Amino acid sequence: MNTEVVYLDEQALDDHMIRRAAEIIRADGTVVFPTETVYGLGANALSEKAVEAIFAAKGRPSDNPLIVHISHLDMLVYLIGEPLSDKARLLIQRFWPGPLTLIFKKSGKVPSSVTAGLDTVAVRMPDNPAALELIRASGLPIAAPSANISGKPSPTLPEHVVSDLQGRVDMILCSTKSRIGLESTVLDLSGSIPVILRPGGVTYEELAEVLGEVRIDKGLLDAHCTPKSPGMKYTHYAPDADMVIVKGSINSVQEKIQALAASKASEGLSVGVLASDETAGYYKNVNVLSLGSRKNYAVIASNVFEKLREFDIIGVDVIYAEAYDEQGMGLAVMNRMKKAAGFNMIEVQP
Ligand code: AMP
Ligand code: MG
Repeated sequence: MNTEVVYLDEQALDDHMIRRAAEIIRADGTVVFPTETVYGLGANALSEKAVEAIFAAKGRPSDNPLIVHISHLDMLVYLIGEPLSDKARLLIQRFWPGPLTLIFKKSGKVPSSVTAGLDTVAVRMPDNPAALELIRASGLPIAAPSANISGKPSPTLPEHVVSDLQGRVDMILCSTKSRIGLESTVLDLSGSIPVILRPGGVTYEELAEVLGEVRIDKGLLDAHCTPKSPGMKYTHYAPDADMVIVKGSINSVQEKIQALAASKASEGLSVGVLASDETAGYYKNVNVLSLGSRKNYAVIASNVFEKLREFDIIGVDVIYAEAYDEQGMGLAVMNRMKKAAGFNMIEVQP
């Protein structure tokens, strides 16, 4: 397949390019577009054929449902077939457009391939001018998972998308680095109490402030429980190297990682350390990458996928990653790192 790769300036959108991309969407083709979370691989959410092309391009298991992206609340009412609840209204007012995906009971208008046969549909309004213009110009809700080959770290830079999907999609709209850098929070509103199925760009604390009561799906906290969100059960975000997370007080974490790294290096293996600005200078004779300062978890979050992909390019055999507190954005950061590491985690005592 010939892939048209186009560079966009989000501050001064090229109408011609957006119209061209919208035509592809209307003709059941696939277009990768920037969002504030990660790049998305989009197609007409109302067409079985278009949705099947998404699954094929990514190599995504067909039992993992897609998030439908909208530009206007009328599209949401069409997808769910009933007026919005008070809770949904409050959340939408506060967090849309933004990195919060809401799950509702679906109407008959949503093809079952989008929802992987579930009777619920996941919807969000992205906070990115190119994404919103593309949805508006096509006049259709756009189903869009992250624009990576299934299992790989999600793409936060255009080069990640090009390397994974060139030749597999019709068009790639390239822009800057994704501002948030982790996917949306998925919140299930289909039951009586809202449940977080995937932590992401909107934190538990922010949701609790608006909703009062909000739960976190048990499957997210306990590696032995099956998660309620189908996508959360798959190996995900995995770098090529084996990855181990080390958790504990920061000094003991540094000492443990340096000792483990030295032992692997003595076996002739190439070692990567996923550190922070405060700790990066400590490590010797290893490939160190910093996620940013521990004082700013938003920055740490925005760099996780990029640094995991950098280790693939360097070609390390094993990655040791420092853990973060599971509060605020730290919950989503640790969720992605644990999945990238296949839940391989060591806890060190001070
Ligand atoms: P991605 O498209 O890669 O950002 O992944 C979308 C996430 O949303 C996956 O974890 C899906 O399993 C989840 N998801 C989408 N639709 C639903 C739904 N109807 N019920 C539960 N989880 C969903
Ligand atoms: Mg994904």
